[in-house]
Amino acid sequence: APVCVLIVGMAGSGKTTLMKQLQESTMHDDDDDEEENMPAYCINLDPACLDVPYSPSIDIRDTVDYKQVMSQHHLGPNGAIMTSLNLYATKFDQVINILEQRADENKLSEFLLVDTPGQIEAFTWSASGAILSESLASTFPTVMVFVVDTVRCASSPNTFMSNMLYACSMYYRTRLPLVICFNKTDVVSHEFCMEWMKDFEAFQDALDNARNEGSNNGGESGFYDSLTRSLSLVLDEFYTEFSKNAVGVSAVTGDGIDDFWKVIKNAANTDFSEYIEDLKHRI
Ligand code: GDP
Ligand code: MG
Repeated sequence: APVCVLIVGMAGSGKTTLMKQLQESTMHDDDDDEEENMPAYCINLDPACLDVPYSPSIDIRDTVDYKQVMSQHHLGPNGAIMTSLNLYATKFDQVINILEQRADENKLSEFLLVDTPGQIEAFTWSASGAILSESLASTFPTVMVFVVDTVRCASSPNTFMSNMLYACSMYYRTRLPLVICFNKTDVVSHEFCMEWMKDFEAFQDALDNARNEGSNNGGESGFYDSLTRSLSLVLDEFYTEFSKNAVGVSAVTGDGIDDFWKVIKNAANTDFSEYIEDLKHRI
C-alpha cells in the first residue's frame, strides 16, 4: 500500500516548497520499476494558497472557494480557512474513496504527499483537521513530517525549543510516527539542531548566551529557568526517540532529499496496528 506523508509545520517553514522538491525527486527515478516511477501523488489541503508550485492530483481549492467563503460568511482570513476546512471535511470521504479505488487498481504512487495550511493551528487544532488526518491515517500507513525553519532556530534557541514542543504536542495528539525535517540547510546547516537534540547541556548554554546578550542580568527569572530545566527532561525522552527520524534538507536545492526518503521509509516501517486499534477507541 502507498505510504501517506502528511506535511505539517509553522507558516513559512517551507512545506509547499518541500512538496515540489519531493514530487520532482520521484520524477527521474532511474530504475525500471514502473510503480516507483510514478511521480508522487500530491494532495493540497491549503485553501488559501495562491499558487501551488507542484502538480496536485487533488486540491481543496477545486472544491471550496476560500475568497467566496470569506465574503459570504463575513470572515477574516483564519475564520475562512477554518470554514473551508470544515466544508471540505464533510466531503472528504469522497476523496478517500477515490484514493482507495486508485490504490486497488495500482494507480497510486509509492508515496502520497499531503500539503497542509500555512497556519499550522488551523489544521492541527481543529476538528476538521483531525477528521482529514485521521481519515487518511486509517486508510494508509501514515507518517507525519514536522518541517522546521532551521534559519529561524539558528537565530534563537527559544524558536528551536518552541518548534520541538510543537512537534511533541503533534505527536501527542496524533500518535503517528514522526519525522523532524530541518529545512533551509542551503542557508545554515542543521548540525547545531542535531547537537541540541543529543546534548541538552549544549542547548542550555546556547539559551544562556542568548539571554545574556538580550539583557545584562544573567541570573534573573527563577521560574523561566526552572521551567526550562523541567521541559528538558520531557524533551530528552522525545529527542531520544525522534533524533533517529530527524533529517536536514533544502527544499530549494534538493540537498538531503535522498536521506529524507530513507528516514520516511524507516518511519513507515512502524507497526500501525496499534494506531488503528487506538483510533477505533477514539472515534
Ligand atoms: P509554507 O508556508 O510552510 O508552505 O512555506 P513555503 O513553502 O511557502 O516557503 C516559505 C518561504 O521559505 C518561501 O519564501 C520559500 O522560498 C522559502 N523556503 C522554503 N524552503 C526553503 C529552503 O530550503 N531554503 C531557503 N533558502 N528558502 C526556503
Ligand atoms: Mg504552504
